[in-house]
Amino acid sequence: MKKVYFFGEGKAEGAGLGKERLGGKGSGLAEMTALGIPVPPGFTIETSVCAGYARGGGLDGVRGEVAEALARVERATGKAFGDPANPLLVSVRSGARSSMPGMMDTILNLGLTSRTIAGLAALSGDRFAYDCRRRFLQMYGGVVLEVPKHDFEEVLSAARAERGVSSDAALSAEDLQRIAVRFEEIVRRHTGKDFPDDPQEQLWGAIGAVFRSWDNDRAKTYRKLHRIPGDWGTAVNVQAMVFGNRGETSATGVAFTRDPSTGEKKIYGEFLPNAQGEDVVAGIRTPRPLSAEGSGASLEETMPKAFAELLRLRDLLEKSFRDMQDLEFTIEDGKLYLLQTRNGKRTGFAAVKIATDMVEEGLISREEALARVEPEQLVQLLAPVFPQKEKEEAVASGKLLGKGLPAGPGAACGKIAFTAQRAVAMAARGEPVVLVREETSPEDIAGMHAAAGILTTRGGSTSHAAVIARGMGKTCVVGAGDITVESGGSGLRARNLRASEGDWISVDGTSGEVLLGKLPTRPSEVLQVLLEKSLPAEKSSVFSSFTLLLSWADAHRRLGVRANADTPTDARVAVLFGAEGIGLCRTEHMFFEETRIAAVREMILAESVEGRRAALAKILPMQRQDFVGLFREMGERPVTIRLLDPPLHEFLPHEEEAVRKTAAEMKVSEERLRERVRALHEANPMLGHRGCRLGITHPEIYETQVRAIFEAATAAIREGGKPRPEIMIPLVGTKGEFERLKALVDETAREVARETGQPVSYLVGTMIEIPRAALRAGRIAENCDFFSFGTNDLTQMTYGYSRDDAASFLPAYIEAGILPEDPFASLDLHGVGELVSIATRRGREVRPDLKVGVCGEHGGDPRSIEFFHQVGLDYVSCSPFRVPVARLAAARAALAERQVAVSSTA
Ligand code: ADP
Ligand code: MG
Ligand code: MG
Repeated sequence: MKKVYFFGEGKAEGAGLGKERLGGKGSGLAEMTALGIPVPPGFTIETSVCAGYARGGGLDGVRGEVAEALARVERATGKAFGDPANPLLVSVRSGARSSMPGMMDTILNLGLTSRTIAGLAALSGDRFAYDCRRRFLQMYGGVVLEVPKHDFEEVLSAARAERGVSSDAALSAEDLQRIAVRFEEIVRRHTGKDFPDDPQEQLWGAIGAVFRSWDNDRAKTYRKLHRIPGDWGTAVNVQAMVFGNRGETSATGVAFTRDPSTGEKKIYGEFLPNAQGEDVVAGIRTPRPLSAEGSGASLEETMPKAFAELLRLRDLLEKSFRDMQDLEFTIEDGKLYLLQTRNGKRTGFAAVKIATDMVEEGLISREEALARVEPEQLVQLLAPVFPQKEKEEAVASGKLLGKGLPAGPGAACGKIAFTAQRAVAMAARGEPVVLVREETSPEDIAGMHAAAGILTTRGGSTSHAAVIARGMGKTCVVGAGDITVESGGSGLRARNLRASEGDWISVDGTSGEVLLGKLPTRPSEVLQVLLEKSLPAEKSSVFSSFTLLLSWADAHRRLGVRANADTPTDARVAVLFGAEGIGLCRTEHMFFEETRIAAVREMILAESVEGRRAALAKILPMQRQDFVGLFREMGERPVTIRLLDPPLHEFLPHEEEAVRKTAAEMKVSEERLRERVRALHEANPMLGHRGCRLGITHPEIYETQVRAIFEAATAAIREGGKPRPEIMIPLVGTKGEFERLKALVDETAREVARETGQPVSYLVGTMIEIPRAALRAGRIAENCDFFSFGTNDLTQMTYGYSRDDAASFLPAYIEAGILPEDPFASLDLHGVGELVSIATRRGREVRPDLKVGVCGEHGGDPRSIEFFHQVGLDYVSCSPFRVPVARLAAARAALAERQVAVSSTA
């Protein structure tokens, strides 16, 4: 069976075989050759040989084929391997199916021996020959013979110092010759043997080393992290050398067919004259730009013919590969060769622009465009940014306070507030605020809302601050351990810097950096158009690509996309981002507001039902106003409102001082307040007296909320609106709980209708967040209009720990293989997903028209969304800023399903 594939002179035996067998690099070389693109001839040993080699199979099975292919390379180049007069030199390059750092580095100039060096010198001079020789010794010594690379570097830098030059390019032939001798000594010292001087021995040494590198520790770690199967194996590419180091008419470089950061259709990249392969990335010399920019040093200006050829090949490659390409090229004596092509990595901005541009250019279909953009990449398009230059200047002038974990992308600056109350107060004066806390807790929500950015000095990426910030789409850095918040919140310290309340601070939630002072920020272009309306839509190409792509997504998705929004402002943002309704409005946030908390506490402290009703009567008009605002924003779109969920003690103060202050404000004794706090204390607040249980023990609370909803809906109807309230009962575990509270809702609705003469249509459903509810879904569904999976709590209760708890042990679990990943991040059939699937099926068996959605954080996670699509949910609901992500993910899920259907019928 054939295992070695020749490419060269316009023919490629491996064309069409693909990456699975030839690896990414080998497949690219074959395809380019077949397209007639100038590629130095060579051959690829397929990946299956690697697997055989790993099993101890040796390389004898391919020796014959390799010899044959090498002979063809000799004929194609007119040179011979090991020929002292006209030597063929080759590169040996690894290349797995997907690009995989950690594997063996490439070896250049292989075939150079004490005999062939003379031939090379005769062709192109001593300097060139010894430059190749020392590079080869260094690469082969380091990579195949495993001599510490540092030893070679030391010799080189000593030689540079001795000559007083900064670049290897300035070393003379004699210098290089001496260096080569020193390199040979180093090899002898480390291996106890002479450097191999037989080209065949060099070749097989290199091929074996590539295969062995597949199983080195670095490669294994990388594979584990990226879920690359160990049995894929790498291919080996052996290819005739072309020389970018043959003087000033030669060069080497890298190019992207479009700008990988903006997506603009403009060749992008850099090159170095008189250099070989690794020099461009090594950073020893500063590379030059490819296109003009008036520098006088660009490729376009210095080698216009090669540049024009590069542009021609760019078009050819994009037509053929139908995606943006990342190229490696070498110019030898003015002639351009391509050495590698692959789909280029890109930012979210570039991904969206390139995908939509390519549809317009007729290169790809809309469906392909959707598959080209990772949903998560869209987040980048919404986040504000610090201009790079200003940030670097600030760091250089010592303004860096520290670095934490980036927990909410974007750039924010504002005046420091150390408490949520101060943040709210300062924001109310129109000042941008950054809330700085050691850690945040539910009491900080209002402050987090008011703040432009959030910084915590403790906690990880699953801490309260991180989770809430993600949900709010807020810029956030957590766990910035270099920064200390002084006790009493009077200031913060970091190294030799100090800042007090009201001082400016800048937080980069994309990089995790925290800087003292006020850096300029720019809102993302998309937001400038959508929210601020400061930029006309037709002026922003980012915006038009973004909306175009999402319009294609909407045409393909089956899942509805709603948003979790508690306020009219959030609702407006959600609608602008394309939300089709509100999937979760949490009413407790309305209770925490400063103007209302007093009435809420009065209600909690009341001795009797009458006292509670009196306090609730104060809350009613405020709640009604909240809902009127929401209904106005949402128009005819459904609005799911969850009745009060948290346990009552969350509304009471806990710290001594706060208790004293609140008692005074409320004119009750401190003792009475403390007694209530004690009485309401719960061993496990997550599982306690809350949600629907509260609704059953304190029906007047839910009655008030429901009344507020219906009165607001009536008001909205009178304004000409068509509100669609969907009332959701939290934490239901039994049919009895649900039906008791549904009766309360129905009764209150009837009452309001009697009073106003205006009936309102509505739904009553439940959140499914208790495992029992998921299992008893068939019973609960009997009189229930909808289910909405609260997957945050469902995950907590299924796994028995919270997101925050998980931070301390999850990494160890994943490392040990006990859990494949964080169940709070993504869900599938092998965990909480099974409960979702069971509940959906059992519910719909009883009520085929049961509406089913999800409102946990998983509703904004692309992988979970694919699962929800498969289970047949009606909609997902996520934070407003994740709505575009969800729209795209839902479309991709629908397309993936169609693809599977197509391939299984084929
Ligand atoms: P990597 O996977 O790390 O990019 P490559 O195998 O692409 O490694 O090799 C790195 C660089 O070496 C290439 O970009 C190219 O500049 C140079 N190179 C590889 N093969 C040849 C060759 N046959 N002739 C000239 N340069 C080569
Ligand atoms: Mg490469
Ligand atoms: Mg809950």
